[in-house]
Amino acid sequence: VIKIDKLQKMYGDNAVLKDISEEVNSGEVICVIGPSGAGKSTFLRCLNLLETPTSGSVLFEGNDLTTLDEKHVNQLREKMGMVFQSFNLFPNMTVIENLKLAPKKVKSVSDEEATKIAKELLKKVGMSDKADAYPVSLSGGQQQRVAIARALAMNPEVMLFDEPTSALDPEMVGEVLKVMKDLANEGMTMVVVTHEMGFAKSVADTIWFMADGYIQESAAPDKFFSNPTTDRAKDFLEKIL
Ligand code: ATP
Ligand code: MG
Repeated sequence: VIKIDKLQKMYGDNAVLKDISEEVNSGEVICVIGPSGAGKSTFLRCLNLLETPTSGSVLFEGNDLTTLDEKHVNQLREKMGMVFQSFNLFPNMTVIENLKLAPKKVKSVSDEEATKIAKELLKKVGMSDKADAYPVSLSGGQQQRVAIARALAMNPEVMLFDEPTSALDPEMVGEVLKVMKDLANEGMTMVVVTHEMGFAKSVADTIWFMADGYIQESAAPDKFFSNPTTDRAKDFLEKIL
């Protein structure tokens, strides 16, 4: 679905992503882990061109996003749902209005259809009873589940998550990971930047260990956690496990 080739990103003379070539296959769940400052968020943002790569290419369904004009990038971006650490719901809209906005505005879905989709998704994330609530009245975990449902309302091909649970109180982490795990089990293609090693171990098909602007290791979780091959990864795992 996504093919990354020789991706580089510089901020001034700071080379944040140095040379990344990887592929994301349909239905695959990839967890990106690594130390702070490794470039994980920058990398994720390059996948949907929220950041413009300095060089290299990002192919999404065969289209090189780095060569397309803005209109076509936007069209393809609609197929990539993104969920951030901060929930970013529109505060002046109810939960269901948050879900209906993009499908109506961007995809010209009818109000009736948008409502139907929104209700199904709220059910899926366990938020049906809060459809008419405003975001401010929800807990962090509830807001993040709504944010996931809102991304899903556009019927994306791929979901990108950047540390979706790291701003949550500990008791709310589980409910959000559960929603993500269900999504993975349904076959959603996912790239998840996370510090939740339990989730990475049990849900990921592939771990990308990122440090110093490179993906240093790409391996199945069993292999990565029991037998990391680079010193960089060994060092990281020793610190966190
Ligand atoms: P964390 O685990 O703390 O979220 P990360 O792996 O996501 O870290 P990034 O946020 O991608 O790391 O940042 C990587 C490097 O790029 C850092 O040195 C950061 O200062 C730099 N950087 C990120 N965004 C920008 C920006 N917009 N302008 C300049 N430098 C940036
Ligand atoms: Mg980050």
